[in-house]
Amino acid sequence: MEVRCKHCCKSLFKGDSILFNAHYEVKQHPIDLRCQADKSDCCSYMTAESVPDWIMNIINQESWIKGKLHCPYCNSRFGSFNFVNDTKCYCDKYVKPPIRIVNSKVDILYEEIK
Ligand SMILES: [Zn+2]
Ligand SMILES: [Zn+2]
Repeated sequence: MEVRCKHCCKSLFKGDSILFNAHYEVKQHPIDLRCQADKSDCCSYMTAESVPDWIMNIINQESWIKGKLHCPYCNSRFGSFNFVNDTKCYCDKYVKPPIRIVNSKVDILYEEIK
């Protein structure tokens, strides 16, 4: 799996960084199972355990509170994080993972299943 900035097409992270849906299920495909109450499905999610080092540095700089994620190459915003408030998904059954990636700001490339 690879996530690229849609604006500059550079790779933001790939490999073992894992994207989740709002229900903490690992996304295997861009259109994966998701919260049925959330019609827009605008975001993917990550946990602190699955982010690459450069995102972890930003989280550390913000003292694990909240902040925004920008592309390190072109500085366009592609997501945010919030470790303070638990946000529930639309169906109200699950707390969303703390790091949010806006799907429309990135290209998510999945490897073909062989
Ligand atoms: Zn839900
Ligand atoms: Zn960029």
